[in-house]
Amino acid sequence: MNTAPKFTPETLLSIRPWAPNLFSFTMTRGSAFQFVAGQFARLGVKRADPDNPKNPSGEKIVWRAYSVASSSHAEALEFFSVAIPEGEFSSELVRMRPGATVYLERISYGFLTLERFEPARDLWMLCTGTGLAPFLAILGESGTWNAFENLIVVHSVRYPNELAYADEICGLSGKARLHYVPVVTRRSRAGALGERVPELIESGALEGHVGLQIEPGTARVLLCGNPEMITTTRKLLAARGLNPSRRGNPGQLAVENYW
Ligand code: NAP
Repeated sequence: MNTAPKFTPETLLSIRPWAPNLFSFTMTRGSAFQFVAGQFARLGVKRADPDNPKNPSGEKIVWRAYSVASSSHAEALEFFSVAIPEGEFSSELVRMRPGATVYLERISYGFLTLERFEPARDLWMLCTGTGLAPFLAILGESGTWNAFENLIVVHSVRYPNELAYADEICGLSGKARLHYVPVVTRRSRAGALGERVPELIESGALEGHVGLQIEPGTARVLLCGNPEMITTTRKLLAARGLNPSRRGNPGQLAVENYW
């Protein structure tokens, strides 16, 4: 019988604000915690739980799922988060300082991984907001750069200051060619596309911009972020013959909803 506790206490190492509603943080990584790039962890923070007769300790741990942004071989774990003022978890986290305790479940979760795909030429990573996180982890693996000829990262945000990690992504290099496509939907910004991801696919503007087609024979697609973006994009891609993997039938598409 495995008697190891379900989670380990870890230490918050750093916090990096990107915009008023957006920040990244790093924390120690328990030696038992393993994950595949693209997966998520479950993190817990302690909160006061006063006036709860069923909980005399006056405290509780609140848990949230977070995609890991750091690579699977990194010593520390990195996460990318929205700050929701009324949110039980992130409102507590933004108040915390390095040295504070964050709990980490031992198990990692999720299927937004490259293991699901058969080899192909191009990997399209389409995301909104903090849905960028798993793609940062995937880009941190040398195997990704060796497996594809083209890596296309499309990051859709409302405002330019939400284009987190742009410099880090542009600074990456390897065997594959990297295409970084920022999309800013509520302001015009030089160098960025201005329409939502599904519209950019439907009109052909995204493929025109990148110079590659999204086709089942050459493309593998990862989608992450806003659930409505994922639903609409999935339908568009299904019409082109790109579908999620099924048992015994490897597909061209994998998705992760963010809320
Ligand atoms: P968002 O509304 O998801 O917008 C990010 C990008 O996605 C924008 O470019 C936006 O375009 C686009 N978008 C929005 N709806 C879309 C759709 N149906 N189809 C295609 N593209 C779409 O904004 P966010 O700032 O990342 O997140 C907004 C709120 O979502 C947060 O404040 C938070 O409440 C919640 N959220 C929760 C979690 C979580 O619980 N883990 C994580 C992230 C966000 P437009 O500018 O045209 O809308």
